[in-house]
Amino acid sequence: MKINPNYLKLNERYLFSQISRKVSDHQARHPDQTIIRLGIGDVTRPLVPAVIEAMRRAVAEMGEPATFRGYGEEQGYGFLREAVCSYYSRKGVNLSDDEVFIGDGAKSDLGNILDLFSADNTVLIPDPVYPVYVDTNRMDGRRMAFARGSEDNRFLPLPDLQVRADLIYLCSPNNPTGAVYTAEQLRQWVDYALEQEAVILFDSAYESFVCDDQLPTSIYQIEGAARCAIEFGSFSKTAGFTGTRCGYTVVPRALSLDGASLNQLWLRRQSTKFNGVSYIVQRGAQAAFSEEGLRQIKADIAYYQHNARVIAETLTELDFWFVGGEHAPYIWLKCPEGLSSWAYFDDLLTRCGLVGTPGSGFGTNGEGYFRLTAFGERSQIETAMTRLRHGSLSLRL
Ligand SMILES: *Cc1c(COP(=O)(O)O)cnc(C)c1O
Repeated sequence: MKINPNYLKLNERYLFSQISRKVSDHQARHPDQTIIRLGIGDVTRPLVPAVIEAMRRAVAEMGEPATFRGYGEEQGYGFLREAVCSYYSRKGVNLSDDEVFIGDGAKSDLGNILDLFSADNTVLIPDPVYPVYVDTNRMDGRRMAFARGSEDNRFLPLPDLQVRADLIYLCSPNNPTGAVYTAEQLRQWVDYALEQEAVILFDSAYESFVCDDQLPTSIYQIEGAARCAIEFGSFSKTAGFTGTRCGYTVVPRALSLDGASLNQLWLRRQSTKFNGVSYIVQRGAQAAFSEEGLRQIKADIAYYQHNARVIAETLTELDFWFVGGEHAPYIWLKCPEGLSSWAYFDDLLTRCGLVGTPGSGFGTNGEGYFRLTAFGERSQIETAMTRLRHGSLSLRL
Protein backbone atom coordinates (compact mmCIF):
# COMPACT_ATOMS: atom_id res chain seq x y z
CA MET A 1 0.00 0.00 0.00
CA LYS A 2 1.31 3.46 -0.92
CA ILE A 3 -0.29 6.68 0.21
CA ASN A 4 -0.54 9.79 -1.95
CA PRO A 5 2.96 11.28 -1.45
CA ASN A 6 1.61 14.78 -2.04
CA TYR A 7 -0.15 14.65 1.33
CA LEU A 8 3.25 14.40 2.98
CA LYS A 9 4.26 17.65 1.32
CA LEU A 10 1.45 19.66 2.90
CA ASN A 11 2.54 22.24 5.42
CA GLU A 12 1.42 21.75 8.97
CA ARG A 13 -1.76 23.80 9.47
CA TYR A 14 -0.36 25.61 12.41
CA LEU A 15 -1.89 29.09 11.93
CA PHE A 16 -5.05 28.71 13.99
CA SER A 17 -3.59 26.25 16.48
CA GLN A 18 -0.64 28.59 17.05
CA ILE A 19 -3.09 31.45 17.62
CA SER A 20 -5.13 29.53 20.17
CA ARG A 21 -2.01 28.32 21.98
CA LYS A 22 -0.69 31.87 22.27
CA VAL A 23 -4.08 33.13 23.42
CA SER A 24 -4.47 30.48 26.13
CA ASP A 25 -0.90 31.04 27.37
CA HIS A 26 -1.62 34.74 27.61
CA GLN A 27 -4.96 34.14 29.34
CA ALA A 28 -3.28 31.87 31.90
CA ARG A 29 -0.80 34.62 32.74
CA HIS A 30 -3.49 37.36 32.86
CA PRO A 31 -6.70 35.68 34.05
CA ASP A 32 -8.37 39.04 34.79
CA GLN A 33 -8.03 40.32 31.23
CA THR A 34 -10.87 39.92 28.73
CA ILE A 35 -9.56 39.05 25.31
CA ILE A 36 -11.40 40.30 22.22
CA ARG A 37 -11.19 38.24 19.04
CA LEU A 38 -11.05 40.06 15.75
CA GLY A 39 -9.56 37.05 14.05
CA ILE A 40 -12.56 34.85 13.33
CA GLY A 41 -13.54 34.18 9.74
CA ASP A 42 -17.01 33.06 10.76
CA VAL A 43 -20.34 34.85 10.91
CA THR A 44 -21.87 35.62 14.30
CA ARG A 45 -25.46 36.70 13.44
CA PRO A 46 -28.09 33.92 13.56
CA LEU A 47 -30.07 32.69 10.54
CA VAL A 48 -32.79 35.16 9.52
CA PRO A 49 -36.50 34.46 10.26
CA ALA A 50 -37.40 33.81 6.59
CA VAL A 51 -34.83 31.01 6.43
CA ILE A 52 -35.85 29.47 9.76
CA GLU A 53 -39.53 29.57 8.75
CA ALA A 54 -38.83 27.83 5.43
CA MET A 55 -36.71 25.14 7.09
CA ARG A 56 -39.45 24.54 9.71
CA ARG A 57 -41.99 23.99 6.95
CA ALA A 58 -39.58 21.64 5.16
CA VAL A 59 -39.02 19.62 8.33
CA ALA A 60 -42.80 19.21 8.69
CA GLU A 61 -43.06 18.06 5.04
CA MET A 62 -40.41 15.42 5.66
CA GLY A 63 -42.58 13.97 8.44
CA GLU A 64 -45.66 13.38 6.23
CA PRO A 65 -46.00 10.47 3.79
CA ALA A 66 -47.46 12.72 1.08
CA THR A 67 -44.65 15.27 1.15
CA PHE A 68 -41.68 13.20 2.28
CA ARG A 69 -38.67 13.35 -0.09
CA GLY A 70 -35.82 10.91 -0.56
CA TYR A 71 -32.88 11.52 -2.91
CA GLY A 72 -33.21 14.89 -4.58
CA GLU A 73 -32.45 16.13 -8.08
CA GLU A 74 -28.78 15.59 -8.96
CA GLN A 75 -27.84 19.23 -9.56
CA GLY A 76 -29.96 20.45 -6.66
CA TYR A 77 -33.70 21.12 -6.58
CA GLY A 78 -35.09 23.16 -9.47
CA PHE A 79 -36.64 25.68 -7.07
CA LEU A 80 -33.21 26.59 -5.67
CA ARG A 81 -31.41 26.62 -9.02
CA GLU A 82 -34.13 28.96 -10.31
CA ALA A 83 -33.74 31.17 -7.22
CA VAL A 84 -29.99 31.38 -7.95
CA CYS A 85 -30.73 32.30 -11.60
CA SER A 86 -33.07 35.09 -10.57
CA TYR A 87 -30.50 36.36 -8.04
CA TYR A 88 -28.04 36.55 -10.96
CA SER A 89 -30.54 38.26 -13.23
CA ARG A 90 -30.59 41.16 -10.74
CA LYS A 91 -26.87 41.50 -11.50
CA GLY A 92 -27.61 41.55 -15.22
CA VAL A 93 -26.32 37.99 -15.67
CA ASN A 94 -28.52 35.48 -17.50
CA LEU A 95 -27.94 31.88 -16.51
CA SER A 96 -30.01 28.86 -17.34
CA ASP A 97 -30.79 26.53 -14.44
CA ASP A 98 -28.72 23.69 -15.91
CA GLU A 99 -25.63 25.89 -15.47
CA VAL A 100 -26.17 26.02 -11.69
CA PHE A 101 -25.09 23.19 -9.38
CA ILE A 102 -26.12 23.18 -5.72
CA GLY A 103 -23.49 21.91 -3.30
CA ASP A 104 -22.73 21.87 0.40
CA GLY A 105 -20.54 24.97 0.25
CA ALA A 106 -17.92 26.73 -1.81
CA LYS A 107 -14.97 25.10 -0.06
CA SER A 108 -15.91 21.57 -1.14
CA ASP A 109 -16.64 22.59 -4.73
CA LEU A 110 -13.42 24.63 -4.97
CA GLY A 111 -11.50 21.52 -3.98
CA ASN A 112 -13.59 19.00 -5.94
CA ILE A 113 -13.54 20.92 -9.23
CA LEU A 114 -9.89 19.92 -9.54
CA ASP A 115 -11.05 16.37 -10.41
CA LEU A 116 -11.80 17.78 -13.87
CA PHE A 117 -8.30 19.00 -14.55
CA SER A 118 -5.08 17.15 -15.26
CA ALA A 119 -2.38 17.22 -12.61
CA ASP A 120 -0.18 18.38 -15.47
CA ASN A 121 -1.65 21.90 -15.45
CA THR A 122 -0.03 25.04 -14.09
CA VAL A 123 -2.15 26.91 -11.58
CA LEU A 124 -1.90 30.63 -10.91
CA ILE A 125 -2.87 31.61 -7.38
CA PRO A 126 -2.96 35.07 -5.80
CA ASP A 127 -0.73 35.56 -2.75
CA PRO A 128 -1.95 36.27 -0.11
CA VAL A 129 -5.22 34.32 -0.38
CA TYR A 130 -7.58 31.75 1.18
CA PRO A 131 -5.19 28.78 1.83
CA VAL A 132 -7.59 26.16 0.37
CA TYR A 133 -6.47 26.89 -3.21
CA VAL A 134 -2.82 26.13 -2.49
CA ASP A 135 -3.46 23.07 -0.34
CA THR A 136 -5.92 21.38 -2.74
CA ASN A 137 -3.49 21.80 -5.63
CA ARG A 138 -0.61 20.55 -3.55
CA MET A 139 -2.65 17.41 -2.80
CA ASP A 140 -2.76 16.75 -6.55
CA GLY A 141 0.88 17.70 -7.09
CA ARG A 142 0.12 20.54 -9.53
CA ARG A 143 2.68 23.21 -10.46
CA MET A 144 1.84 26.55 -8.89
CA ALA A 145 2.73 30.09 -9.82
CA PHE A 146 1.74 33.09 -7.73
CA ALA A 147 0.23 36.47 -8.56
CA ARG A 148 1.77 38.65 -5.93
CA GLY A 149 -0.26 41.16 -3.96
CA SER A 150 1.59 44.13 -2.51
CA GLU A 151 1.18 47.63 -1.22
CA ASP A 152 1.89 48.86 -4.77
CA ASN A 153 -0.99 47.01 -6.39
CA ARG A 154 -3.14 47.42 -3.27
CA PHE A 155 -3.29 43.62 -3.08
CA LEU A 156 -5.05 43.35 -6.43
CA PRO A 157 -2.48 41.61 -8.64
CA LEU A 158 -3.10 41.76 -12.41
CA PRO A 159 -2.06 39.24 -15.06
CA ASP A 160 1.56 39.07 -16.09
CA LEU A 161 1.57 38.19 -19.77
CA GLN A 162 4.94 36.43 -19.37
CA VAL A 163 3.40 33.84 -17.03
CA ARG A 164 1.73 30.73 -18.50
CA ALA A 165 -1.28 29.39 -16.62
CA ASP A 166 -4.00 26.79 -17.23
CA LEU A 167 -6.07 27.46 -14.12
CA ILE A 168 -6.40 30.84 -12.45
CA TYR A 169 -7.91 31.47 -9.04
CA LEU A 170 -9.50 34.82 -8.28
CA CYS A 171 -11.21 35.78 -5.04
CA SER A 172 -13.04 39.11 -5.05
CA PRO A 173 -13.88 40.54 -2.56
CA ASN A 174 -10.77 38.90 -1.24
CA ASN A 175 -10.14 36.88 1.86
CA PRO A 176 -7.90 37.94 3.65
CA THR A 177 -7.38 41.43 2.18
CA GLY A 178 -10.95 42.63 1.61
CA ALA A 179 -9.76 44.12 -1.70
CA VAL A 180 -12.21 44.10 -4.66
CA TYR A 181 -11.38 44.09 -8.36
CA THR A 182 -12.97 46.71 -10.58
CA ALA A 183 -14.70 45.65 -13.81
CA GLU A 184 -11.74 46.95 -15.78
CA GLN A 185 -9.28 44.85 -13.75
CA LEU A 186 -11.43 41.72 -14.07
CA ARG A 187 -11.63 42.35 -17.81
CA GLN A 188 -7.82 42.09 -17.93
CA TRP A 189 -8.02 38.69 -16.22
CA VAL A 190 -10.76 37.48 -18.57
CA ASP A 191 -8.80 38.61 -21.64
CA TYR A 192 -5.67 36.92 -20.32
CA ALA A 193 -7.57 33.65 -19.60
CA LEU A 194 -9.17 33.63 -23.08
CA GLU A 195 -5.81 34.22 -24.67
CA GLN A 196 -4.14 31.45 -22.66
CA GLU A 197 -7.15 29.11 -23.04
CA ALA A 198 -7.11 28.93 -19.26
CA VAL A 199 -10.02 28.53 -16.86
CA ILE A 200 -10.69 31.10 -14.15
CA LEU A 201 -11.99 29.70 -10.86
CA PHE A 202 -13.79 32.73 -9.44
CA ASP A 203 -14.61 32.63 -5.72
CA SER A 204 -17.47 35.04 -5.04
CA ALA A 205 -18.11 34.02 -1.42
CA TYR A 206 -18.17 37.68 -0.31
CA GLU A 207 -20.09 39.19 -3.26
CA SER A 208 -23.00 40.27 -1.05
CA PHE A 209 -20.68 42.65 0.84
CA VAL A 210 -20.08 44.79 -2.26
CA CYS A 211 -21.98 48.02 -1.78
CA ASP A 212 -21.06 49.95 -4.94
CA ASP A 213 -23.08 49.24 -8.11
CA GLN A 214 -20.03 49.98 -10.23
CA LEU A 215 -18.05 47.08 -8.78
CA PRO A 216 -18.59 43.59 -10.20
CA THR A 217 -20.15 40.91 -7.97
CA SER A 218 -19.88 38.15 -10.57
CA ILE A 219 -17.21 37.35 -13.14
CA TYR A 220 -20.02 36.92 -15.69
CA GLN A 221 -20.61 40.67 -15.63
CA ILE A 222 -17.44 40.75 -17.74
CA GLU A 223 -17.80 40.12 -21.47
CA GLY A 224 -16.41 36.74 -22.52
CA ALA A 225 -16.28 35.27 -18.98
CA ALA A 226 -18.85 32.56 -19.78
CA ARG A 227 -16.26 31.08 -22.14
CA CYS A 228 -13.48 30.91 -19.54
CA ALA A 229 -14.80 30.99 -15.98
CA ILE A 230 -16.42 28.85 -13.30
CA GLU A 231 -17.92 30.75 -10.37
CA PHE A 232 -18.26 29.52 -6.79
CA GLY A 233 -20.94 31.11 -4.61
CA SER A 234 -21.90 30.40 -1.04
CA PHE A 235 -24.72 31.08 1.39
CA SER A 236 -22.15 30.99 4.21
CA LYS A 237 -21.16 34.66 4.47
CA THR A 238 -24.22 35.97 2.60
CA ALA A 239 -26.87 34.33 4.76
CA GLY A 240 -25.03 32.95 7.79
CA PHE A 241 -24.96 29.34 6.47
CA THR A 242 -21.44 28.48 7.72
CA GLY A 243 -22.94 25.81 9.97
CA THR A 244 -25.97 25.02 7.81
CA ARG A 245 -23.97 24.33 4.61
CA CYS A 246 -25.11 25.35 1.15
CA GLY A 247 -23.40 26.80 -1.90
CA TYR A 248 -23.69 26.88 -5.67
CA THR A 249 -21.28 26.52 -8.54
CA VAL A 250 -21.92 27.98 -11.98
CA VAL A 251 -20.45 26.12 -14.93
CA PRO A 252 -21.61 27.83 -18.15
CA ARG A 253 -22.63 25.72 -21.14
CA ALA A 254 -20.35 27.94 -23.23
CA LEU A 255 -17.33 26.66 -21.33
CA SER A 256 -15.80 24.09 -23.62
CA LEU A 257 -12.09 23.46 -23.56
CA ASP A 258 -9.78 20.73 -24.78
CA GLY A 259 -12.75 19.28 -26.65
CA ALA A 260 -14.95 18.82 -23.58
CA SER A 261 -17.93 20.57 -22.00
CA LEU A 262 -16.94 21.35 -18.44
CA ASN A 263 -20.64 21.57 -17.54
CA GLN A 264 -21.13 17.94 -18.61
CA LEU A 265 -17.98 16.77 -16.83
CA TRP A 266 -18.95 18.51 -13.60
CA LEU A 267 -22.44 16.97 -13.77
CA ARG A 268 -20.82 13.57 -14.28
CA ARG A 269 -18.45 14.14 -11.37
CA GLN A 270 -21.13 15.39 -8.98
CA SER A 271 -23.68 12.70 -9.82
CA THR A 272 -21.01 10.04 -9.22
CA LYS A 273 -19.37 11.35 -6.05
CA PHE A 274 -22.02 13.56 -4.42
CA ASN A 275 -25.63 12.99 -3.41
CA GLY A 276 -26.83 16.48 -2.81
CA VAL A 277 -27.69 18.88 -0.02
CA SER A 278 -30.61 18.16 2.29
CA TYR A 279 -34.07 19.26 1.12
CA ILE A 280 -34.51 21.22 4.35
CA VAL A 281 -31.33 23.22 3.80
CA GLN A 282 -32.16 23.87 0.13
CA ARG A 283 -35.56 25.27 1.20
CA GLY A 284 -33.74 27.51 3.68
CA ALA A 285 -31.36 28.70 0.96
CA GLN A 286 -34.27 29.39 -1.40
CA ALA A 287 -35.87 31.55 1.32
CA ALA A 288 -32.62 33.52 1.71
CA PHE A 289 -33.06 34.63 -1.93
CA SER A 290 -36.78 35.52 -1.55
CA GLU A 291 -37.71 39.23 -1.34
CA GLU A 292 -38.19 38.98 2.41
CA GLY A 293 -35.06 36.86 2.92
CA LEU A 294 -32.92 39.25 0.90
CA ARG A 295 -34.16 42.18 2.97
CA GLN A 296 -33.35 40.35 6.20
CA ILE A 297 -29.88 39.12 5.19
CA LYS A 298 -29.07 42.59 3.89
CA ALA A 299 -29.68 43.97 7.38
CA ASP A 300 -27.19 41.49 8.85
CA ILE A 301 -24.60 42.34 6.23
CA ALA A 302 -25.16 46.03 6.98
CA TYR A 303 -24.41 45.24 10.64
CA TYR A 304 -21.04 43.68 9.73
CA GLN A 305 -20.35 46.52 7.29
CA HIS A 306 -20.93 49.02 10.07
CA ASN A 307 -18.47 47.06 12.25
CA ALA A 308 -15.95 47.26 9.41
CA ARG A 309 -16.45 51.03 9.21
CA VAL A 310 -15.81 51.39 12.94
CA ILE A 311 -12.51 49.55 12.48
CA ALA A 312 -11.56 51.45 9.32
CA GLU A 313 -12.23 54.85 10.91
CA THR A 314 -10.02 53.99 13.88
CA LEU A 315 -7.20 52.78 11.63
CA THR A 316 -7.44 55.93 9.53
CA GLU A 317 -7.28 58.07 12.66
CA LEU A 318 -4.21 56.13 13.88
CA ASP A 319 -2.53 56.47 10.50
CA PHE A 320 -2.38 52.78 9.62
CA TRP A 321 -1.95 51.72 5.99
CA PHE A 322 -4.80 49.33 5.15
CA VAL A 323 -7.11 48.04 2.42
CA GLY A 324 -10.53 46.38 2.62
CA GLY A 325 -13.39 46.95 5.00
CA GLU A 326 -15.59 48.76 2.52
CA HIS A 327 -16.87 45.85 0.45
CA ALA A 328 -15.80 42.93 2.62
CA PRO A 329 -15.83 41.88 6.27
CA TYR A 330 -12.01 41.96 6.27
CA ILE A 331 -9.50 44.70 6.91
CA TRP A 332 -5.91 44.13 5.91
CA LEU A 333 -3.42 46.39 7.62
CA LYS A 334 0.29 46.92 7.43
CA CYS A 335 1.95 46.11 10.73
CA PRO A 336 3.30 49.30 12.33
CA GLU A 337 7.02 49.98 12.73
CA GLY A 338 8.03 47.26 10.30
CA LEU A 339 6.95 44.47 12.67
CA SER A 340 6.51 40.97 11.27
CA SER A 341 2.98 39.54 11.27
CA TRP A 342 3.64 37.36 14.34
CA ALA A 343 5.51 40.10 16.21
CA TYR A 344 2.50 42.38 15.75
CA PHE A 345 0.18 39.56 16.82
CA ASP A 346 2.12 39.23 20.10
CA ASP A 347 2.21 42.99 20.55
CA LEU A 348 -1.56 43.43 20.10
CA LEU A 349 -2.30 40.51 22.38
CA THR A 350 -0.04 41.59 25.21
CA ARG A 351 -0.64 45.34 25.07
CA CYS A 352 -4.34 45.42 24.14
CA GLY A 353 -5.74 41.91 24.68
CA LEU A 354 -6.76 41.81 21.01
CA VAL A 355 -6.53 38.80 18.71
CA GLY A 356 -6.23 39.10 14.94
CA THR A 357 -4.78 36.89 12.22
CA PRO A 358 -1.14 37.17 11.10
CA GLY A 359 -1.01 37.92 7.38
CA SER A 360 1.88 35.50 6.84
CA GLY A 361 -0.63 32.67 7.36
CA PHE A 362 -2.15 33.52 3.95
CA GLY A 363 1.01 33.38 1.86
CA THR A 364 4.53 34.72 1.62
CA ASN A 365 3.33 38.13 0.53
CA GLY A 366 1.17 38.42 3.63
CA GLU A 367 4.30 38.81 5.82
CA GLY A 368 4.28 42.18 7.53
CA TYR A 369 0.48 42.44 7.29
CA PHE A 370 -2.41 41.56 9.56
CA ARG A 371 -6.10 40.67 9.11
CA LEU A 372 -8.92 42.00 11.27
CA THR A 373 -12.49 40.81 10.76
CA ALA A 374 -15.76 42.67 11.14
CA PHE A 375 -17.73 39.62 12.29
CA GLY A 376 -18.72 39.96 15.94
CA GLU A 377 -20.71 42.06 18.36
CA ARG A 378 -20.70 45.82 17.84
CA SER A 379 -19.91 46.58 21.49
CA GLN A 380 -16.88 44.25 21.36
CA ILE A 381 -15.60 45.90 18.21
CA GLU A 382 -16.00 49.33 19.78
CA THR A 383 -14.16 48.26 22.92
CA ALA A 384 -11.41 46.74 20.79
CA MET A 385 -10.97 50.04 18.92
CA THR A 386 -10.83 52.00 22.17
CA ARG A 387 -8.06 49.66 23.33
CA LEU A 388 -6.21 50.12 20.06
CA ARG A 389 -6.35 53.91 20.45
CA HIS A 390 -5.05 53.82 23.98
CA GLY A 391 -2.48 51.08 23.51
CA SER A 392 -1.22 49.61 26.75
CA LEU A 393 -3.23 51.96 29.00
CA SER A 394 -6.55 50.31 28.34
CA LEU A 395 -6.10 46.67 29.22
CA ARG A 396 -9.03 46.73 31.58
CA LEU A 397 -11.52 48.27 29.13
C1 LIG B 1 -15.74 31.41 3.83
C2 LIG B 1 -15.19 31.28 2.47
C3 LIG B 1 -15.79 30.44 1.54
C4 LIG B 1 -17.07 29.73 1.87
O1 LIG B 1 -16.91 28.43 2.15
P1 LIG B 1 -18.18 27.52 2.46
O2 LIG B 1 -17.64 26.16 2.26
O3 LIG B 1 -19.25 27.88 1.49
O4 LIG B 1 -18.59 27.80 3.88
C5 LIG B 1 -15.25 30.35 0.28
N1 LIG B 1 -14.18 31.08 -0.07
C6 LIG B 1 -13.61 31.93 0.79
C7 LIG B 1 -12.48 32.78 0.31
C8 LIG B 1 -14.08 32.04 2.08
O5 LIG B 1 -13.48 32.88 2.95
